[in-house]
Amino acid sequence: MASSQVVRIRVAQHAGVCYGVERALKLTIDAASAARQPVCTLGPLIHNPRVVAELSAAGVGTAGSVDEAEAGTLVIRAHGVVPQAIESAKQHGLDVIDATCPYVKKVHHAAARLAADGYQVIVVGESGHPEVEGILGHAGDGAVVVSGIDDLNDIVLGKRVGVVVQTTQTDERLGQVVASLVARVGEVRVINTICKATHERQESAERLASSVDAMVVIGGKNSGNTRRLAQICAAQCPSTYHVEDADELDPIWFQDVRNIGLTAGASTPPAHIHQVIDRLVACNPDSSVEWNRD
Ligand code: SF4
Repeated sequence: MASSQVVRIRVAQHAGVCYGVERALKLTIDAASAARQPVCTLGPLIHNPRVVAELSAAGVGTAGSVDEAEAGTLVIRAHGVVPQAIESAKQHGLDVIDATCPYVKKVHHAAARLAADGYQVIVVGESGHPEVEGILGHAGDGAVVVSGIDDLNDIVLGKRVGVVVQTTQTDERLGQVVASLVARVGEVRVINTICKATHERQESAERLASSVDAMVVIGGKNSGNTRRLAQICAAQCPSTYHVEDADELDPIWFQDVRNIGLTAGASTPPAHIHQVIDRLVACNPDSSVEWNRD
């Protein structure tokens, strides 16, 4: 980092945990604090190994399936699940805390409504992603997943199709699929279920990265949305570094740097952002820290 120079550290306006992840974390931590019985999450609560390790230290286990869960409380993560998973957990005698994000629940309801109204449901999203699997479970028998217009060539379309979208998809991707469907099908009903949290983080990070000398992206290396943020930032600022924690910061990265930008994925808690800022400031006590400044 530039010595004896004021270094500006600017944090993106939209950075770190989104509403759904924050809510899921709170529900899980509250359940663990009550601690009258074992608590585990169905799959890792979020894609952040540090948070999963912190939860484990607080007594929260991870079950790969309902059958693997111990007796006690089972937390359904923000991505949501198929309805049968919750039924099965209850039949196993587990207390279920449903931490499915309310915005994901909206997709479930939209898909179920379309199916009940006789539409073939198309889910625009990433095949195999846990959120998409959960949506499919609410979308009726003929539901299919398409990741883009090329996938439409491989499926038999009904006369009336209803479209919902994985919350993290882009308007552009949805628009392409809908335009292609309109040319092929008599009736297309679209319910736009994109959540703006991802989009806001990406736009904010892109703006900030275009005006700094170095950019730090904080979050799990296994987090798709954090990796995407790092890619977007790297396109604007070649000196972009994706770290999970402050220990990964290398002072060499910041030699002769006057402007540092910071952002974090939707599964990165505020404490992890503060730790990185504290480490950067410790390297240069003359630093100024500015929040919401992309
Ligand atoms: S990105 Fe949106 S839909 Fe997904 S958990 Fe966060 S708030 Fe909910």
